[in-house]
Amino acid sequence: MKAVNPLRIAVQSHGRLSEPSLEYLRSLGLKFKTNGRALITPCDNFSLDILHLRDDDIPEYVSREVADFGIVGENVLYEKNSRVNIIKRLGFGFCSLVIGVPDDSSIQEVADLEGERIATSYPRILSEYLKEKGVNAAIIPIEGSVEIAPSLNLADAICDLTQTGKTLKENHLVSLVTILQSQAVLIESPVSRGEKKEFILL
Ligand code: ATP
Ligand code: ZN
Repeated sequence: MKAVNPLRIAVQSHGRLSEPSLEYLRSLGLKFKTNGRALITPCDNFSLDILHLRDDDIPEYVSREVADFGIVGENVLYEKNSRVNIIKRLGFGFCSLVIGVPDDSSIQEVADLEGERIATSYPRILSEYLKEKGVNAAIIPIEGSVEIAPSLNLADAICDLTQTGKTLKENHLVSLVTILQSQAVLIESPVSRGEKKEFILL
């Protein structure tokens, strides 16, 4: 018999962390069948529902206790600054948040960013970094295709995720500095609920 209130874990629906997150859950012995479209997948052998969400929304669902657990990149977690606990680092989804500049740029070090424009989808992490370094730069928040901002003259530099550096290179950008090393983490909601232990102990 299924419990009335199954635990819930939020994972990315379609993206780089989707498959590795489901693989991780399977490695814990959980059995389930996803169909690629459903928003919720129940587990067959444990009282747990898997919620398939946009990664950016996962910290919100978990901090508001709609989901008991979530799997998300540290980059998203720190950008959203949500009140959740990290249970463990999962060893996949590795990437770096870097500040990149055109390969012919006069910007050679972080101090040279003073007065320049930086396009990013991570305005919060970037502004904290710049504040710590005492650099005043204009942060231009955009959601996608950040790497083309310098060539379109929207910005002088970018702050974006990279794994291999290939996309930076293709866009004639070089990394000036890494401001965050990130991987996928298992997070839990701030409020304890007895049943949560059963999942953590899997
Ligand atoms: P969604 O539609 O869920 O919002 P998305 O486009 O924001 O998806 P993805 O590109 O699928 O997200 O990346 C998901 C996560 O994978 C990132 O937040 C990051 O933690 C990790 N990641 C690993 N390598 C990279 C990379 N090279 N570029 C971007 N993200 C990466
Ligand atoms: Zn996203």
